[in-house]
Amino acid sequence: MMFHHAANPKKPQKGEWVLVTGKDFRSVMLSCPVCGGLAALDHDVDTVWWVTTGVQCARDGCPFHERIALEDWDHGALHPLSEKG
Ligand SMILES: [Zn+2]
Repeated sequence: MMFHHAANPKKPQKGEWVLVTGKDFRSVMLSCPVCGGLAALDHDVDTVWWVTTGVQCARDGCPFHERIALEDWDHGALHPLSEKG
């Protein structure tokens, strides 16, 4: 499914993504389209915005587990695990 770029980066709604940047890391926060739970994406993103593997919601009992894409992604390739400081 397609995650939309959050209209309000401070408050992503269900099914939206937002880029979070720190001094030496970048991360993507996703709001689960089913339960609205927020979680940092721990998969790589390639330059054409497909996340390479299925993403599973971290909340107990939430069934969301899908391959996803990030709408309007223009931040190049992202490797959250190796970019973490
Ligand atoms: Zn969920």
